[in-house]
Amino acid sequence: MLQQSRLPHALLISGIDGLGKMAFAERLVASLLCIQPDAQFNACGHCHSCQLLAAQSHPDHLLVAPEDRGKQIKVDQIRSLKQSQTLMPKVSAAKTVLISEADQMNISAFNSLLKLLEEPQPDSTLILLSNNPQQLPITIKSRCQNVVIPIPDTDQAMAYLRAQDPAMQDKHWQALLKLTQGAPLAALSLGDAGLEQSRQVTADIALLMQGQGNPVQMAADWQQYDLKSVLLQIQSMMQSKIGQLLMTVDNCSVSLLRPYWSIVDCITDTLKLISSQNNPNKILLIEDFMVTVMQHAEQIHKLQGTHR
Ligand SMILES: [Zn+2]
Repeated sequence: MLQQSRLPHALLISGIDGLGKMAFAERLVASLLCIQPDAQFNACGHCHSCQLLAAQSHPDHLLVAPEDRGKQIKVDQIRSLKQSQTLMPKVSAAKTVLISEADQMNISAFNSLLKLLEEPQPDSTLILLSNNPQQLPITIKSRCQNVVIPIPDTDQAMAYLRAQDPAMQDKHWQALLKLTQGAPLAALSLGDAGLEQSRQVTADIALLMQGQGNPVQMAADWQQYDLKSVLLQIQSMMQSKIGQLLMTVDNCSVSLLRPYWSIVDCITDTLKLISSQNNPNKILLIEDFMVTVMQHAEQIHKLQGTHR
């Protein structure tokens, strides 16, 4: 789009965590601001603009993000962004704004941003990043060109990961990709800690499925983990169990499908809750989830007893 002079004034780059949305956006920003880009519009890396950008002190670029992890972007942040948009570019020929976690705003911040999108500045490009674009108001989304970053296929992701750490075994990368919905950068950043998490969660779920284990203790242990990746791991475990049951068509297997599906539904609901803006109490969410798993596990044992 840049090469064909078709780049819109506002872009929404979306996709799950760990696909390189930020790296992509930063590269685009560097291209837009670079004083002497090459014929393909790649930033040169050494002009005044590229140096300022590398030092995070480019006067024509603004990064807007929640001030604290898990918090929202404040309306004041959007207001000061609007103020800066009235200024002329100082170093480059254009201005850029990068809004990270753009879905993490309250209504007044969204409204303020909407006004900005409705009155585009000719020399300015706004780039919104979001892991949860469904949480963005339609009025915002419809004023941006949407760019969805796809999840790479497994071969592509594995080739990338092998190149990052040739010492890591393939089965470990595969386990990590399961925790991250196939996002290679997220798998890379989980690394050994992710493998330890995977082992612990596998052991804990096995206990819960046998009606053993203490949900309160386990929930406290799981607090150190990224809850989303834990739930994705359990989802993948349950789906492979359902796959096995579907392969065997006796009455017992068919009746067992229901409680396993109920666990999958519960995982989906919990995932929705943790990505909502309401800052839920995560430890209570995990405990509730574990109790539900134990209830369905009990049903599974009863059904297995009936059919034995
Ligand atoms: Zn440059």
